[in-house]
Amino acid sequence: MNLILFGPPGAGKGTQAKFLVDKLNNFQISTGDMLRDEIKKDTEIGKKIINYMNDGKFVDDEIVNKLLEKIVFDPNKMNKLIFDGYPRTINQAKNLDILLKKSNQIIDYIFFLNVNKDSIIKRIEKRKTLEKRSDDDSDTILKRYDTYMEITKPVLDYYSKNQNFYEIDGSKEIKDIAQKIEEILKV
Ligand code: AMP
Repeated sequence: MNLILFGPPGAGKGTQAKFLVDKLNNFQISTGDMLRDEIKKDTEIGKKIINYMNDGKFVDDEIVNKLLEKIVFDPNKMNKLIFDGYPRTINQAKNLDILLKKSNQIIDYIFFLNVNKDSIIKRIEKRKTLEKRSDDDSDTILKRYDTYMEITKPVLDYYSKNQNFYEIDGSKEIKDIAQKIEEILKV
């Protein structure tokens, strides 16, 4: 089963992805984690993207799409993918469609975790004290939210008419959101 967790930064995609990894024995595909890893390892990609990420801007589609390609075609991960933070642009959504088609896979469920701006800001400020991410400071949070509204929200229209699209109230308690998702998945 392949899933997409969609929503603004701070919606809880990563948290829910981790629950689903445990429950379904799937793999969390977090492009944010993959990109942070490139920076940590100081790779060529890492050097290119560090300023974009710290500034709350998106990394180029070309770079992200390439990182993703390896994973979609990984036989150990096929049909066990939980996308967390990808796709974030229409170009990425179309790329994912192509990769899935080529690898004979589909997306079984798309969950949109809907949370308003005020809750997001509060949540990310809390996360900042726990995870110490450099892109979680107040100015960057606002930039990331604006980028989401401008570039990522249109991707919703791309998916929202699909039968497998579910909107979930992401402002609820973590365990209630997890329960709602599990109800839909019947797991
Ligand atoms: P996240 O951990 O998902 O909140 O992502 C953190 C940052 O990584 C984002 O603000 C972007 O700079 C970058 N990033 C993560 N995923 C993507 C993506 N799919 N496309 C472009 N940039 C991304």
